Amino acid sequence: MNFFEKIRNKFDNYIFDSSLSLRDRTFVLFSSAMIVAIFTAMIVGIFLGEPITSTLISLGLVIFCSILLYFVFKMNRIKGAKILVAFLMVGGFQPVMFFAKGGIHCGGLLTLLLGTVYLIMVLEGRFRIVMCIIDVFVLGACWIVGYTRPELVVEYSLEADYVYSFAKYIIFTLVLIAVITFWTRILKKEAKVSEDKSKELEELNRAQNRFFSSMSHEIRTPINSILGLNELILRDTGISDEVAKDASGIQGAGKMLLALINDILDFSKMEAGSMDIVPVDYRIGDMLSEVVNMIWLKAHEKGLKFEVSVDPKVPAVLYGDEVRIKQIIINLLNNAVKYTQEGSVELHVESENTTDDRTTLSITISDTGMGIKKEALPYLFDAFKRVDEEKNRHIEGTGLGLSIVKQLAELMGGNVVVNSVYGEGSTFIFTITQKVSDATAIGELNIHNQSVARDKYEASFVAPDARVLIVDDNEMNLEVEKKLLTDTKILVDTAISGRLALEYAVQIHYDVILMDHLMPGMDGIDCLKALRGQTGGLNRTTPVVVLTANAGSENRELYNRSGFDGYLVKPVSGEALEEMLMKHISKDKLTVAGKMMRMKEDINTTAGYSRKLPVIITTTSMADIPE
Ligand code: ADP
Repeated sequence: MNFFEKIRNKFDNYIFDSSLSLRDRTFVLFSSAMIVAIFTAMIVGIFLGEPITSTLISLGLVIFCSILLYFVFKMNRIKGAKILVAFLMVGGFQPVMFFAKGGIHCGGLLTLLLGTVYLIMVLEGRFRIVMCIIDVFVLGACWIVGYTRPELVVEYSLEADYVYSFAKYIIFTLVLIAVITFWTRILKKEAKVSEDKSKELEELNRAQNRFFSSMSHEIRTPINSILGLNELILRDTGISDEVAKDASGIQGAGKMLLALINDILDFSKMEAGSMDIVPVDYRIGDMLSEVVNMIWLKAHEKGLKFEVSVDPKVPAVLYGDEVRIKQIIINLLNNAVKYTQEGSVELHVESENTTDDRTTLSITISDTGMGIKKEALPYLFDAFKRVDEEKNRHIEGTGLGLSIVKQLAELMGGNVVVNSVYGEGSTFIFTITQKVSDATAIGELNIHNQSVARDKYEASFVAPDARVLIVDDNEMNLEVEKKLLTDTKILVDTAISGRLALEYAVQIHYDVILMDHLMPGMDGIDCLKALRGQTGGLNRTTPVVVLTANAGSENRELYNRSGFDGYLVKPVSGEALEEMLMKHISKDKLTVAGKMMRMKEDINTTAGYSRKLPVIITTTSMADIPE
């Protein structure tokens, strides 16, 4: 490789090295272009017979710039070279050019402008501003001296004036074209790189989401069988106490495992930034009812009082991610019950700063439990952090719950704060602003407690004339779900694929079809579509409930859009199956079990509300609530 090739290679390496800043690369390009430009101008000058001093100045500049660039390449000192050239430009090159090359004539203005453009394009930050200001003053001084002492400016003929100014115009334009073309090229390249990167990120995100949902699906499918079969054992009145105890243990562990999987999946989604918030219109009264119904029995079993008070002014229909808001409240209430041995747990809901289209919900969950030590408060919301481990050793938990609660709340623009007195109890306040879809106040909310206490299992209804089809590609799941419905006396058919389900659907009319989603060949959504438009089909209007291992609010949305009439997540309990079927089987085919003992307790939410005081922070209480 000869000398020029080596230089050329170095030049290319610098210009296209994306680890260098755009301005550093512009410096290399600009300086190289200037060398060529000055050299060309010098040759033109020689032909036009310009004074020898001018030729020598140009030659000196070409040699200086070349040596400078050589050292930049050799020693990698771009920053230093840029500063040196800037000072030489303002303090030497421009004034010398002004006086030696005809002042404001002979295209001198273009030379000066080229220098200033160099300062603007190559320097950065404050240094650039300072150098540009100095440049204006130096050039101003040149103008004044040139005007007051014209004998200091080398004079040129009119012909030279015209030829030089035209030659400089061409050179100036070529340098500018080179720099601008380079900038555009780099910008295009960088836009492409960032586009590729964001595509890559999107793909990664999609892959992660696929992984999360398939993980969730794969784990839930066998747990469905484990918990289902276990429920069948528990229902059996003939089992010994020992077996009943073991089966209860399996049930507890299974549910714990499920909660753990849910937490880990939520947590990884959050870490990957792929947790989606899916806002919908929701009735806050219904949501609170569901929450209360879930917690009430747990509190009751532990001998705790569960008080609920809801501000009657809360707007009836809000717009937000109902599933995630419910998850936060349930998580805080579960903790309250979990960490309280005696006394009460309270849920208090208030609506503040309500306008026509917005309201801020303030949801307070307090308990009279063990409380949290002052020194543990700063770490309370950290992932995997369980506080007071000594005392909590026997209470199951992962330390993920509160971290998820906090992150979810913040993702939705909300906030969670805690106030606790060790040994006396804790108060968690979750605030979130929601859009108002229907501003009618919910008024007095009577939550009818649906919790059913069963000493021994008994089907909630019998429907011997009803016929149900369960479609699932997992034989064990089909078996379990069928058996879970045995006591309802429903006639249950099972189909191992969507195709088989369609074959049955032209021969038998079903009251309800329970349909898995992910099945090889024809999936549940395609099967539903085929059912709805099936020629000669007897089930074109039969309610179809999706019974899937795909959890998550985004899936709920998908099933809603696809036209399913209900949504059940695996692992499914006999109770949940019965509840769903009861909704869809016509009343004349159903006989509700008379002996079933319902713990009827209407929870009046406003009675408590009127005597409710705002949370009091005493001097002994520790809180991260702002004063
Ligand atoms: P865990 O799975 O351990 O319950 P969380 O993240 O939900 O995880 O809670 C973290 C820790 O905060 C718990 O281990 C417990 O020590 C403490 N904690 C949470 N809620 C309460 C509460 N209501 N009363 C007392 N301590 C609580």
